[in-house]
Amino acid sequence: MSDVIPFRKPSLKEKHKGNTLCRHGHHKWEVDKTKQFDVKQGKLVTIYHCVRCRKQKVMSI
Ligand SMILES: [Zn+2]
Repeated sequence: MSDVIPFRKPSLKEKHKGNTLCRHGHHKWEVDKTKQFDVKQGKLVTIYHCVRCRKQKVMSI
């Protein structure tokens, strides 16, 4: 039985897989269509939010 490889149970890391991607900068961006005007810049922008961590980014058109 020397060829039995001991497997570790899935750790907590598995549960946070999505957020791990986010922490490495791989967000899942989705366009937020409700907010498309930047008051400060006074022009139309596209606002994205990450569906996993809710982080936002703004892209000028
Ligand atoms: Zn994210």
